[in-house]
Amino acid sequence: MTDISAVSRGTGRNPVAPGAGRTVASAVPKSLVARLARGVTAGGDARPVTTLAPLTGEPLAELPQSTPEDVAGAYRVARQAQQAWAALPVRRRAEVLLRFHDLLLKRQDEVLDLIQAETGKARLHAFEEVLATAMAARHYGRAAAGYLKDRRRGGAVPVLTHTVEGRRPKGVIGHISPWNYPLELSVSDALPAFVAGNAVVNKPDTQTALTALWARELLIEAGLPAELWQVVIGDGPVIGPAVVEHADYVSFTGSTRTGRDVAQRAAARLVGASLELGGKNALLVLADADLDKAAEGAVRACFSSAGQLCISIERLFVHRSVADAFLAKFAERTAALRLGGGLAYGADMGSLVSGRQLETVTRHVEEAVKAGATVVAGGQARPEIGPLFFEPTILDGVTPEMAVCTEETFGPVVSIYRFDTEEEAVGLANATPYGLNSSVWTRDLRRGRAVAARLHTGTVNVNEAYAAAYGSVASPMGGMGDSGLGRRHGAEGILRFTEAQTIASQRVMPLAPAFGLDDAKFAALFTKSLRALKALGFK
Ligand code: NAD
Repeated sequence: MTDISAVSRGTGRNPVAPGAGRTVASAVPKSLVARLARGVTAGGDARPVTTLAPLTGEPLAELPQSTPEDVAGAYRVARQAQQAWAALPVRRRAEVLLRFHDLLLKRQDEVLDLIQAETGKARLHAFEEVLATAMAARHYGRAAAGYLKDRRRGGAVPVLTHTVEGRRPKGVIGHISPWNYPLELSVSDALPAFVAGNAVVNKPDTQTALTALWARELLIEAGLPAELWQVVIGDGPVIGPAVVEHADYVSFTGSTRTGRDVAQRAAARLVGASLELGGKNALLVLADADLDKAAEGAVRACFSSAGQLCISIERLFVHRSVADAFLAKFAERTAALRLGGGLAYGADMGSLVSGRQLETVTRHVEEAVKAGATVVAGGQARPEIGPLFFEPTILDGVTPEMAVCTEETFGPVVSIYRFDTEEEAVGLANATPYGLNSSVWTRDLRRGRAVAARLHTGTVNVNEAYAAAYGSVASPMGGMGDSGLGRRHGAEGILRFTEAQTIASQRVMPLAPAFGLDDAKFAALFTKSLRALKALGFK
């Protein structure tokens, strides 16, 4: 197998990062693939599927595929295991997450190799997944008992009614995850589900199933009963509906198109769903921004994981008075990014994940250029580095009829637009059906937060690209509008996996005529009581 890291420098503008001297084949040997594949719930009726390593285009893993019947079987096993798990005290379940946190940090190199092999991203961007997953594990490991504890509520009648709100697990969560952040998006949503007392049937994207299976093994090592996390693999349209069909709740991350389908199926069964979907995220550079910091932040915002990040920036709005100066700095930094696919730190950007992604990115750029847009940086594929490399690309002169202006590219392509007033910038940023993430750059934090509050997105980062909000795991993250329903992280990120239950016990007298009161006297007594409670400031 070729060591793609040893490929010589190409003729394109972005430099090539030095290689690591390790091949994908040596980092992900067949024995590891075979071991991980045993974690898939599959009866062997469907033909196995072969995934390709994006960095080289060579075969990576042969994986068994699950049938809809296998999915039903996975739910049966998970449902049985969930009973005993839910009966454990929260603190016992939380210990598993805390041990997982430690194991993940210790064994991170194993999963960094897998993430790079399956997605083609740079190691630094793979590390972001380790970081985000570890933070979620620690947060829910420590905070779950507080989120889930019984809460005393005001009763129907003070003193006489004792009311407690409790949280019960939903049961078995159907969890469907995409390929772009395979560790973070398979695990971080599963962790709060587990600690709340649920089991999970997870359908990761086939392309990145090894990473999810590795994480499952590690969580089992941390103490999770193996039956609680079932992994099924197969074509989305074939087994995805079966995952929704048996679920007590659905947690979905992926495209808006698929999300709508999942939402309709869940709604038809009257089960809830959280949907983390696509975006067309905006970054605003206000006139008073520190342009060096903004340019550096914009590079991270647009090109992390080669732009295959749901919260990455594809529309960049800059105040006209600083546009030329900002663009010069941003273009210079972008053109200097080192491309590479070595299984080591050092590259600033890796490869795209699939031919489909490369096709979309190429089409968006080529169509825009044909229709009059200018390439400020990048703009071309780099097949001499690997089959799916595309340069980080800045476009200027993009107009609304170009697909790149309104559709999610999900690649390393950003368009620059100029504005004259803050009002105009907010209006332009909000002029999209999506509402996932945004970023505002200014030296005046108060002004930045005020602009942020007017942006129609689930997260806003002031003077950071995306990591400040995403990494704030105690606070909710998710999308408005076409970017989704529900939130991960924080209280909402765990309570979605529970049913609220109110237990109210009545003492001394019933909430009905008693002690010889007739209906009219009862009504008069209660009317007086409500007035008295109001006067006392109770109700
Ligand atoms: P996708 O919708 O094609 O696939 C996502 C998952 O759904 C995969 O596991 C896929 O196999 C499965 N699937 C496909 N068809 C299905 C069906 N009919 N029923 C049930 N499941 C089905 O999305 P993708 O291309 O893999 O991921 C990229 C998209 O995900 C982008 O739009 C991106 O913005 C979005 N995304 C959003 C977030 C977020 O947190 N908001 C995070 C990451 C990615």
